[in-house]
Amino acid sequence: MLYDLELKSVGKTYPDGTVAVSDFDLKVEKGEFVAFLGPSGCGKSTTLRMIAGFEEITNGEIFIMGQNISHTPPEKRPTSMIFQNYALFPHMTVRQNIAFGLDIKGVPKSEKDRKVDRILDMFDLTEFADRKADKLSGGQRQRIALARGLVVEPEILLLDEPLGALDANLRRIIQNELKLLQRDLGITFVFVTHAQSEALGLSDRVVVMSNGVVEQISAPKELYTRPATPFVAEFIGSNTIIEGKPAQGGDQGLRLIETPYGPISGVGAAGANLAVIPAEAFNLGLRNTPGEIRLEGTVTAKQLVGSIGYLRVKLSDGREIDAETHVGALEAHSYSPGSPVTLGIDPTSVTLIHN
Ligand code: ADP
Repeated sequence: MLYDLELKSVGKTYPDGTVAVSDFDLKVEKGEFVAFLGPSGCGKSTTLRMIAGFEEITNGEIFIMGQNISHTPPEKRPTSMIFQNYALFPHMTVRQNIAFGLDIKGVPKSEKDRKVDRILDMFDLTEFADRKADKLSGGQRQRIALARGLVVEPEILLLDEPLGALDANLRRIIQNELKLLQRDLGITFVFVTHAQSEALGLSDRVVVMSNGVVEQISAPKELYTRPATPFVAEFIGSNTIIEGKPAQGGDQGLRLIETPYGPISGVGAAGANLAVIPAEAFNLGLRNTPGEIRLEGTVTAKQLVGSIGYLRVKLSDGREIDAETHVGALEAHSYSPGSPVTLGIDPTSVTLIHN
């Protein structure tokens, strides 16, 4: 199969010896929206810049549409990059800013004008075409940056925290626009963000990174429900992680570990020793379903936020965990600090992983 983008064991060691990225493997299909997600310094931007060609790779190979472009200069790659600060030229007009990439490629004037007009129209920027870029709002600048990236008709659009400079409301609006635009154009997007909600909400697949290493590549839902590593389990969503020892047993394809709180079964690989329980998997009270897991504890706090109820529960050894439920379920019980509580868990919502 021909992938739009393929990274094979890509690595980057900076001249000062910093290993920013190691053994990055990724295959992206045409039209996919992929997000690189992880804490600051984990190597997201370095990887994006290596795809763009702004950073030399020190290991591995990068292919775009089957072509090895590992050492091709940036302007010869079929990619465009959108930067967090947009990198617009403040004293150039909107039209000049958008035309910049076409100028560099030496596109003839008539073709250039036609392409710029079309994209100005698409982004509702026609009325601002002759305005200087520094005389525009944040949202408008964001659109110009996108228009400038897309006007050269890239195979792959690379976006480095492109919404970072926007306030929360505008961010939400532009997120929606971005997703619709990507679907309409069918262009492959590779997007860098440290914001979990942005990565999970926008992309088809998320690459979670930590310390220069890929932890997991999955669709958002799978990342949330089936974390593959302890880092992902801590980083995504709100999980309780309980350590145990692999044990015999576990019905219907489930596996079992013995923990200080009793046996816990779940979905996972052989030999796994950590149970990952999402906060919303705790039921207040037992449902007596097959294999149901029980955790006994004492309520230490409860909180209602909108339609969500949070319960803090102290387990037998003093450890406190957080359960999340619907407000109705919480109100149906008259919990107060000190109340005993039994939490029931459906084992199919538990993931067993290796530490
Ligand atoms: P992220 O985008 O996830 O925040 P970066 O890719 O910017 O992470 O950085 C990854 C690692 O590489 C960090 O440790 C960072 O300090 C280091 N780094 C980035 N650029 C350079 C550079 N030019 N020289 C040396 N180290 C760098």
